[in-house]
Amino acid sequence: MKKICSFFLILTIVVFLCSCNKEEQKTMQNFYFDTLISITVGEKDLPAANKAFDICAELENTFSRTKKGSELYKINEEGFSSLSPHMQEVLEFSLDFSKECDGAFDITVAPLTDLWNIKERTVPPSDEEIALALRTVGYQSITLSPFQKGDVGIDLGAVAKGYAADIIREKLVKEGVDKAIIDLGGNVQLIGEYTVGIRNPFNPEEIYAKFTLKDKSAVTSGAYQRYFTSNGVRYHHILDPRTGKCADSGIASVTVISESSMQADALSTAIFVIGKDGLKLCDKYPLTDALLIMEDGEIITTEGFGEKYSLTVFEKN
Ligand code: AMP
Ligand code: MG
Repeated sequence: MKKICSFFLILTIVVFLCSCNKEEQKTMQNFYFDTLISITVGEKDLPAANKAFDICAELENTFSRTKKGSELYKINEEGFSSLSPHMQEVLEFSLDFSKECDGAFDITVAPLTDLWNIKERTVPPSDEEIALALRTVGYQSITLSPFQKGDVGIDLGAVAKGYAADIIREKLVKEGVDKAIIDLGGNVQLIGEYTVGIRNPFNPEEIYAKFTLKDKSAVTSGAYQRYFTSNGVRYHHILDPRTGKCADSGIASVTVISESSMQADALSTAIFVIGKDGLKLCDKYPLTDALLIMEDGEIITTEGFGEKYSLTVFEKN
């Protein structure tokens, strides 16, 4: 339990409330998707935030891999094959995206995430165990019309929170909300303008940089979010589906900005796996940008990032 708390407290992205509206903004929190979900709105919009939490419950019943009876659970365990509109949309996007990035992002990583079991493991699995798990990894096994998945297992951990953030935003906007922070454990989606801080991946207590976003999502993937250490080596939760091992591309953290939180979520995971060449993926998705903090401390961004978002990088001692 102690370990779980420590990684939930280290949220990757921090949104600052301006002093001018601190009094009137209220945060409601709840626990879904194995994650602390916060919705911050003005007092008059609290009923709308409540309704948004109802959607979280529905989406958890769709995308949770572990909750018995969820749609994904039935797909994986019982071969269930009639897809809800939410599931259809996420699978369609994920399969197209997997092709775009040549399998660096792959929702069939389930046997690998099970094998690596980052929450409980203390030593890495053997090469033989990894090779065995890799036999059933490959998004190419999934077809959508009709839905068939062969013998692969699906894990939507790299994309479902982003999708949920988009659906929550849609609901709040429909309810007339014009200022809100939707935060799904660091997957942030904003209605209105806010200053956003990203954690220092080398010392997550510190803020590394800040920038300003309006009506956009920011999502960070980093090796410091969920990990264990063995013989001085850190093993983390983002896996390279091509090798079956923890991604090791020289990136300490990647933050992606997009109007679509689902895109930002998938892109941040994929770029973390690919490395700095993965920035090219942002060209394929409109109005999408990224900021990488490399393991040697170098910062690499998409073109014009600094000016577009008024980026400030804090001096480190
Ligand atoms: P994120 O924190 O969004 O980067 O997603 C990481 C989560 O997605 C992990 O906890 C796994 O459940 C899953 N995952 C890990 N590696 C990959 C990958 N290469 N492609 C798709 N999903 C992955
Ligand atoms: Mg992701």
